[in-house]
Amino acid sequence: MRNLVLVLGDQLDPHAAALDDFDAAQDAVWMAEVVEEATHVWCHQKRIAFFFSAMRHFRDQLRKKHWEVHYHQLGRQPRKDRGPDFATVLTADVGRLGPQKLVVALPGDYRVRQSLQQAADRLGLELEVRPDRHFYVSPEEFAEFAGGRKSLVLETFYRHVRRQHDVLMDNGQPVGGKWNFDEENRKAFGREGPGRLAGPHAFRPDRVTQEVCGLVAARFGDHPGTLDSFDLPVTHAQARTMLRDFIHRSLPQFGPYEDAMWTDEAFVYHSRLSAALNVKLLDPRVCVQKAVEAYQTGAAPLNSVEGFVRQILGWREFIRGVYWLFMPDYAEKNHLQHQADVPPFFWDGQTDLACVRESMQHVVRHGYAHHIHRLMVLGNLALLLGVHPRKFHDWHMAMYVDAVDWVSLPNALGMSQYGDGGIVGTKPYVSTGNYIHRMSNFCGGCRYDYRAATGEDACPFTTLYWDFLDRHYGRFQKNPRMSLQIKHVEKKRATPEMVEIRAAAERLKRAWGGEGAVEGPQ
Ligand code: SF4
Repeated sequence: MRNLVLVLGDQLDPHAAALDDFDAAQDAVWMAEVVEEATHVWCHQKRIAFFFSAMRHFRDQLRKKHWEVHYHQLGRQPRKDRGPDFATVLTADVGRLGPQKLVVALPGDYRVRQSLQQAADRLGLELEVRPDRHFYVSPEEFAEFAGGRKSLVLETFYRHVRRQHDVLMDNGQPVGGKWNFDEENRKAFGREGPGRLAGPHAFRPDRVTQEVCGLVAARFGDHPGTLDSFDLPVTHAQARTMLRDFIHRSLPQFGPYEDAMWTDEAFVYHSRLSAALNVKLLDPRVCVQKAVEAYQTGAAPLNSVEGFVRQILGWREFIRGVYWLFMPDYAEKNHLQHQADVPPFFWDGQTDLACVRESMQHVVRHGYAHHIHRLMVLGNLALLLGVHPRKFHDWHMAMYVDAVDWVSLPNALGMSQYGDGGIVGTKPYVSTGNYIHRMSNFCGGCRYDYRAATGEDACPFTTLYWDFLDRHYGRFQKNPRMSLQIKHVEKKRATPEMVEIRAAAERLKRAWGGEGAVEGPQ
C-alpha cells in the first residue's frame, strides 16, 4: 500500500486535499469510530449519533466508488473494540496494512493532530498533513493578517475577506453602501410573538442512522441528551436540501430576528446548518453563493443576506484563525481566574429559571440552541457564576452537535467566557435579566422578577450581574467598552443593597458552582 488516507469524523469532504491524488489501485482510506471521541467529554447522545451516522454514510459513498475503506466500527459489545483511541486503533491497522505513508487533512482539533503525529512517529511512518481547503482562509494566511496588529478585530478581517473573495462587493465598495446592517438586525418579536414557525427541514433516520442510534443507546445511553426524533442531515445531499430550504423559507427573516428568542422555538429563523458545515457535508462557499444569489434575485433582503454571510465568511473563519494562531496555549487561558463548575442543570435543564429551562430544553432535545441562547442565556449565566472557561468549553463540546474543538474553544472559552481576556471579544458578554426580557417572552412565565437584584424574587442574572461587575471592578475600570457598566456599579458599591447582592450572589454560586465558585473582590 502506498498511502493510507486518514479521514476524521469532521472531514467528510470528498474534495479534501487528503484525497487529491487518491489512487484506488494503491491507496486506501482509514476511518474509525473510537470511544475516546465520545467520552473525553461526556457527549450528548445525539452528537455521537450524528458523527457516527455521517461517517458511515461517507464510508459507503467512498465504497461505491470501489475505494478500499478500512472502517473501524464500534459495536454494541465493548470487548470486541480494537482500542479506545485513534492512535491505538491506527497502530494496529498500520501493522496489518503496511502503508508507506499516512496522509491526513489538517484536523480540526489540536489534540488529535498531536496524537496522530505521535502515533506516526512511533510507527516510524511519515504523516503528511495537507491543508484543509474547506475554509476560505488558511491558518498561514490568518497569521499573515494578524502579524503586526495590536489586536484582532473581526470587522477588519471580515472586510478583508469580503474584498479578497469579492463577496457582496460592487466596484470595491460593499453592496448597499454599508458593511453591516446590525441596526436592522436586532429586533425582538414583540407581544404577539413570531406566529407559527416552520423550523428547519427535518430528515427521517434511514437504516444506517437507526443502527447507529441503537449502538448509541446501548453503549452511551447514560450520556446527556436524547436520541428522540433524530432529524439531522447526515449526507451531502441532505445537507444541500437543508441549505435550499433555509434560503427559501427562513433567510428573508433571518437578519431582523437573529437575536430574538421565543418559547418552544429552538431555531426561529436560524439555518441549523452549522453541524453539517462543521463535519464538511456542506461547502461554505456554496452557502455564501446561494445566499448572495437570493439577494440578487430579490428572494431575500440585503440585511439578512449580509448577516448570514458575516457568520460564515466572517465569524467562522475568524475564530478558526484565532484557534490555530493561539493553540495550544489558548486552551489554558483563564483571564478572570474563574474556577466554578458548570451548574448541574446545564446537563438536564431541570431548573426554575425559565430562560435557562427554555434554552436547555433545546440543547437536551436537539444538541442545539441558537447563538443568543448560547451567549446571552447559558454563557451569560456561566460567566456571571464564575465557571472555569475550560470547563464551559468541555460542556459546550459535549452538548452541541456542531461543536468541534476549533469552533468551541474561541466561541465558548473566548467569546462567551472572556477566558482569553479580549482576543475574540473586546468585553465580557454579561447582562441582567433585562436583556433576556427584551429579547424573549421568557420572563413573563418565570417565578423570578428580571428587574430585582435582591429579595425573594430576585432574578439570578440580575443579582449575579452586579456581583460580577463589583468583583471585577478593578479589572474592567480601564476597559473603555465597559465604562458605562462600571459607572453604574460604582454608584452601587457603597450601598446597603450591594451588601445584600454580594450575600445573595454568594449563595447562588455556592449552590450552583461547586467548590471553586466563591471568590473575593479583585
Ligand atoms: Fe431568566 Fe430572570 Fe427572566 Fe427568569 S426573570 S426568565 S431567570 S432572566
